Amino acid sequence: MDRTGELMLEGKTFYIHTFGCQMNVNDSEHLASLLLAEGARPARSPEDSDFILVNTCAVREKSVLKLFSYLGRLKEQKERRGSVLACLGCVAQLHREQLLKKFPYLDLVAGPHQYAAVPLLLRNLQVERRVLTAWEKDWVDLPIVPEARESRVSAYVTIMEGCNNFCTFCVVPFVRGREKYRPLPSILQEVRELAGRGYLEVQLLGQNVNSYRDPDSGAGLPELLAAVAEVPGIEWVRFLTSHPRDFSPALIEAMAASPKVCRQLHLPLQSGSDRILKAMNRQYTRAEYLEIVERLQALMPDISLSTDLIVGFPGETEDDFEQTMEMLEKIRFTNIFSFRYSPRPRTAASRLKDDVPEETKIERLIRLQTRQKEIQLELNRRLIGRTIRVLCLGASKKGQLFAGRNEGLQVVNFRSEQDVSNRMVEVRVTGCGPYSLHGQLDG
Ligand code: SAM
Ligand code: SF4
Repeated sequence: MDRTGELMLEGKTFYIHTFGCQMNVNDSEHLASLLLAEGARPARSPEDSDFILVNTCAVREKSVLKLFSYLGRLKEQKERRGSVLACLGCVAQLHREQLLKKFPYLDLVAGPHQYAAVPLLLRNLQVERRVLTAWEKDWVDLPIVPEARESRVSAYVTIMEGCNNFCTFCVVPFVRGREKYRPLPSILQEVRELAGRGYLEVQLLGQNVNSYRDPDSGAGLPELLAAVAEVPGIEWVRFLTSHPRDFSPALIEAMAASPKVCRQLHLPLQSGSDRILKAMNRQYTRAEYLEIVERLQALMPDISLSTDLIVGFPGETEDDFEQTMEMLEKIRFTNIFSFRYSPRPRTAASRLKDDVPEETKIERLIRLQTRQKEIQLELNRRLIGRTIRVLCLGASKKGQLFAGRNEGLQVVNFRSEQDVSNRMVEVRVTGCGPYSLHGQLDG
């Protein structure tokens, strides 16, 4: 503590544990930047830290339960060392009362619109335990220093916050608020800085990036993509998450027009049944989804598609589920993220009866994942013998074995005599499993 009664951050250590998606990872990088700017140092584990920050995810019940167990485990450690414990992000926004009751030793509870205020809130903790979940209406630009980024070669760049869609299963609009867009010049400035530091890949992030609009010029995602792809030094540009309803022909053309925009797209389908899509308020039909896929494949025949699928949404029959299975056959995704439906507080679907038995949800998930595994193996086998571009993200502990990913976002493990970490290399594919490709550095 200093003479003003504030906690000092300078010289102290901090540890951030992140639950959830890429947006949360990027938010944690911003948090780390803010703390580094105050003179604090990152620690390797919560045991070594004066400040423990837990950045949370509320999308599925499972991640909330994992968080509760993590916070429970931190009690003893907190008391032993006298560390400060903060719960931040979406669960803080959604369950603040429950958190305070269940974990009375929490020092700070702050929602996703409070990241910028976290250093100040931490400094003032000596005065009072703080709970802050107010919402900001406008975009707040947060600084990010390179040392806070997880990778030296691939960077997340957040372009928008929140979501206006209100899919009936989803808690995001209730925890992240309405859409706010980051000004295009600020995005470009960050991408130029990244390129200047040797970053080769940027991933533009938002919950619903297709509705991006520059607040000043009104430029949309197609214009933003074109501008980012022109930044010298950047080799690969990706964007996620896309919503099929807002996926315009102009965006498909913008992707096809630039070889720097990866031939890869994550396009959440959620269900193959029109009846369920309607109940989910997704605002597209399976035919419309297939039409987008056809257009994408017509202009970019080698495009890799991945998706999110939910099984066991209220009222999902065997026939509805079969229609989701059919979509796997028709589209042949390179990867899927599949989830059992779980009701989330405040959402419209939570008022429906969660009537698909848990055993049925598990059985459907297993069928889905088993078929998808076969499809992935078939797709991966076709790459054997080919030479592909790989962004090498690092070496395995044993050395000589490196890991990276290709343009299609598939994991590639390969052998190389020299250290090629953080470089774009050519790899000859010699084998594969359903979840990764194996190979040898070419040349
Ligand atoms: N914005 C993206 C979109 O439009 O699809 C995804 C956002 S959400 C963070 C990521 C995924 O979690 C969703 O695509 C969905 O498949 C899954 N998800 C969201 N709410 C869920 C729930 N209540 N139960 C199961 N899975 C859920
Ligand atoms: Fe949630 Fe739907 Fe918004 Fe995605 S588009 S964040 S699923 S409400």
